[in-house]
Amino acid sequence: MRYAETGFNLEIDLSRGSIERVETDPRDTELYLGGLGTNAKILWDRVPPEVEPFSPDNLLIFSAGLLCGTPATGCNRTILSTISPQTQFMAFSMMGGFWAPELKYAGYDKVIIRGKSPDLVYLWIHNDQVELRDASHLQGKGAIETAQLIQQELKEPRAQVAAIGLAGENRVYFASIEQGRSSASRGGIGAVMGDKGLKAIAVRGTKDIHIARPAEFMELIDEVMEYMAWRNERPIPGVMPILAGLGSPQEMKVHDEKWHTENFRWGNSRVRRKDFWNDDIAKAWMETMEGARRRLVSCYNCPMRCGATISVPGIPTYMMKCFSKLTYTMAAFSDLEFGLGIAQSATEYGVDSFTTPQVMAFALELYEKGILTADDFPGMPEDNEGRFYWLLDRIVRREGIGDVLANGTYWAARQIGKGAEEYAHNNIKKHEQLPLKLSMLNPIYFLMYATGEKINITQIEGQFPQMPFPTREEREEFVKDWFQVPDEKFKQYFLDWEIRGENSFPYYPKPEMCCDIVDWQERMHYIDDALGMCAGLSSFPLKPPYHIHNYPKLISSGAGIDMDEDTLTQAARRYRTLVRAVNIRRGMRRKDEKPPENHWKKRFPELEKELLDTYYRFKGWNNDGVPTKEALHDLGLDYVSEEFERRGIYSESGDTPSNETSVEKEKEV
Ligand code: SF4
Repeated sequence: MRYAETGFNLEIDLSRGSIERVETDPRDTELYLGGLGTNAKILWDRVPPEVEPFSPDNLLIFSAGLLCGTPATGCNRTILSTISPQTQFMAFSMMGGFWAPELKYAGYDKVIIRGKSPDLVYLWIHNDQVELRDASHLQGKGAIETAQLIQQELKEPRAQVAAIGLAGENRVYFASIEQGRSSASRGGIGAVMGDKGLKAIAVRGTKDIHIARPAEFMELIDEVMEYMAWRNERPIPGVMPILAGLGSPQEMKVHDEKWHTENFRWGNSRVRRKDFWNDDIAKAWMETMEGARRRLVSCYNCPMRCGATISVPGIPTYMMKCFSKLTYTMAAFSDLEFGLGIAQSATEYGVDSFTTPQVMAFALELYEKGILTADDFPGMPEDNEGRFYWLLDRIVRREGIGDVLANGTYWAARQIGKGAEEYAHNNIKKHEQLPLKLSMLNPIYFLMYATGEKINITQIEGQFPQMPFPTREEREEFVKDWFQVPDEKFKQYFLDWEIRGENSFPYYPKPEMCCDIVDWQERMHYIDDALGMCAGLSSFPLKPPYHIHNYPKLISSGAGIDMDEDTLTQAARRYRTLVRAVNIRRGMRRKDEKPPENHWKKRFPELEKELLDTYYRFKGWNNDGVPTKEALHDLGLDYVSEEFERRGIYSESGDTPSNETSVEKEKEV
């Protein structure tokens, strides 16, 4: 019997209209866990680098995490993986809500989509009954409206529906897949779904999931729940409000937006408003939020309630997820009321709320600078807010200049030319990052930004504090009950970290320490993404209830796979490396691993080089970021090094990649 997982995937070929239920190999779960891990294995095996994002041969994988559907609190993530049209690399985006547990209850771990449907369809999974249905009547409908219409049509109000809006249908490179109070937004996964002619997947399941050792598993979950209650009563002193508690990241409850509004950049990620937050704004924004927020909502099996239903006069009620609350407001230099209003349209259209506002602010900056002219914006309103609504419509419809902007700032700038590239200044691996520009280089963040392949805000957050605490006493207090650390040395790293002087940024933490810290943060994210755990209860906040010490026990008692901290760490390294291998095979190299030039004002090229060199060595990657044969052998990934050899990625002398394979594969625009 299989535990925690169902042992079956659904394979859907949209070109042929075929549906298969395929038994999976339990050995793959032991080696790669599930969720992101086995997704990476499937993409490695079945999507060679010659496959373009919009090829029928590109796969779109919806995967429940290994522990989704078990009683593990907060374990509800769907992990979506494909090749991104924006980065041309592997995209893996997580979606909270209710979809993944429902898929498990229907009897499947993953839905693997290939091919393209000639007509718009949706997939209906109801336990053993699985069918493709006509979706022509849903063409052009919003993502949330689509979900409601499908539930009505199926007479299944409890069906969970993941759907795209107009942006996905029109292959906007930053289109999302929306589901209830959540979405998979990064990497343009919605564009691939639209390209495949798949409007939605509805799922309803009523089967059971088996647990290997239920009493032991439940005891561990009880401990998690007790710890969450204890921790919620004790916010961490001295850190910004949204990081003081658990959750992801409590944007709907917390009113104090001083840190975001004064540190994140406004407009096209340029303008810092240092003294923006004052009593009048705090009062006005609180009134707006309290007036619009109907109730706080949670994802499946989680008490944290960090989403909310929002109701703004004249606009249908919708569910808002975390930081969308501020991204449109800040890009348009507007107020919270505007942000809450336009986020509803953006949710229905199905677009990523980090990238979209930046793309629109970028277009308006080009207009201001004369690179784009009035002819590019026929009929655009005069006021800033009206312009944002106008641009959003043009982008999702791919009309006029919207057709260019729909490819994101990197590709749009290349197409526009005339110096527009200079204004697409906030990208890593061709993808817009959070609009943060700081003063002094942070060596930990430098490594996380540079080498992260998730292209997501949560990849740069973790269990190690972002900044040193001002006094030794505060630091001593913090480390006292810090049992989540994988090794006691992290406590010393933190105790010795100071705001000024020798042990401060940019030379402290030292490169070797930064490697340890980044590796810990990254390991936790990758484990979450295989298990389906919400980062808000594990890899994102300080002192979370899930950590490297209780995860192996949960996997052992839940999935029946013998696991300790070492074997779990080894498994996470294995599929983390496999994600990198997919991207290396697609041309990713050291040249791609750099945060935006202006991310920090004070940069230190020699130190940055040393950081990257040290981290690559630490990870077992060669000087160009390619995993070495030895490192791959240690992880049981010899098949990867053999493929690298076959493709000439290693030179004759050993592990140095050839220049030819390093050449950036960029499409003509
Ligand atoms: S912490 Fe928040 S985002 Fe995470 S599962 Fe719970 S309600 Fe959802």
